[in-house]
Amino acid sequence: MEFLATFRKGGVHPKDKKELANRQPIEPFTAVSELIVPLSQHTGSPAKPLKAKGDVVVAGEKIGESTSFISANIHSPVNGTISDIKKITLANSVISDAFVITVDSENPFGKWSLQERKEYTGAELLNLVKEMGIVGAGGAAFPTHVKLSIPRGKKVNDLVINGVECEPYLTSDHRLMLERGEEILEGILYVAKIVNPQKITIGIENNKRDAIDNLRQIIEEKGHPIEIVPLKVKYPQGDEKQLLKAIIKREVPSGKLPLDVGAVVVNIGTAFAIWEAVALNKPFIERVVTLSGESIKDKKNLLVPIGTKVEDLLKLTACEETDNYIAGGPMMGFAFWDTTTPITKGTSGILALAPSKKGRVTTPCISCGRCITACPMGLQPTKLYRLIDHGQYEVAMANHLMDCKECGCCAYVCPANLPLVHAMKLGKRVGRK
Ligand code: SF4
Ligand code: SF4
Repeated sequence: MEFLATFRKGGVHPKDKKELANRQPIEPFTAVSELIVPLSQHTGSPAKPLKAKGDVVVAGEKIGESTSFISANIHSPVNGTISDIKKITLANSVISDAFVITVDSENPFGKWSLQERKEYTGAELLNLVKEMGIVGAGGAAFPTHVKLSIPRGKKVNDLVINGVECEPYLTSDHRLMLERGEEILEGILYVAKIVNPQKITIGIENNKRDAIDNLRQIIEEKGHPIEIVPLKVKYPQGDEKQLLKAIIKREVPSGKLPLDVGAVVVNIGTAFAIWEAVALNKPFIERVVTLSGESIKDKKNLLVPIGTKVEDLLKLTACEETDNYIAGGPMMGFAFWDTTTPITKGTSGILALAPSKKGRVTTPCISCGRCITACPMGLQPTKLYRLIDHGQYEVAMANHLMDCKECGCCAYVCPANLPLVHAMKLGKRVGRK
């Protein structure tokens, strides 16, 4: 039997529920009449609008320009007209200006075809990644050109590709690895040209065995210098720090980045977006989104234009009434209520779970220590919770509160149902000031 790598400390095993959607092939979603495209859908400063109300836009045209190094360009996903620019609240509660685009019903989409092959330098590729507005597709939406800009004097030993997709329900990366394997591997080689690593590894959890086999077969046929490392199924292995512990057996120190241990981590969906940018000259204007959860009858993996309203997607899925929507996965995603909210570059899935149970009872901490065992960051969630509850934010900060990844493992195992992650988020927000 093949050895399965993993990280050692902490982690939990929630039911993955991937069987609900992992056999649903990616289908293009085309029934769009209006998009809402936010200017702030990435980590960092919002893009500045380049278009005004009434302007006609074409698919792929830059409509928002990055305003600082940590920012990203925004492009129109469709042909249409800017009918409004308004403030909206995204599913993650960020308030952003957004273009409302009325889609040209006669000719809604751009045509993207393979470009003539060109030998790019690493610097040209990096510039293309920036120009095309590519951000991390795994959820955090960190601008990819920033991650791939290696400071002078730093060296990349390991390029690690994150095909873990450890959040329950989500299957968008899984389907991409099955259906677009060749393109993903080419995208990875473009990334390698930028960061010049000594080794390239893809980490994939063993509940995606068909994806592991598919990528291995292509790697063998094409002779790509890429290794696949199958991983035990354990949450939160998709977190960069846990993934690096599992694959390169190195721990990123507190407050440091993967690059400080000579590693760069890139998500599968991001590698695919980079392939599209280079091979098709196509900006990051659409992405694969999983639609799943107990309230959705027809689970799907859809290729969706950025800015599509969630309610338009739900219409396709025979979704039953619920008050329990999540953007992303159930462990780290964002609960939201307004289904007019749009899909952004970081939206990997929309879950409509069973209606929430009212009157969830919390009891005092029974000092069972389960949260400490579950914490992959080696923190003491029970102690941090007590400190935050008593307003002792500075002491909590001194106890490494900022190392908390908000992964939810502590809350998942807590028999007292204490709102541990909520407390960590609050403590970080107040303690940072
Ligand atoms: S949410 Fe924070 S404290 Fe809780 S298990 Fe995750 S890293 Fe540890
Ligand atoms: S798991 Fe919950 S009850 Fe147990 S020690 Fe941690 S906070 Fe207390």
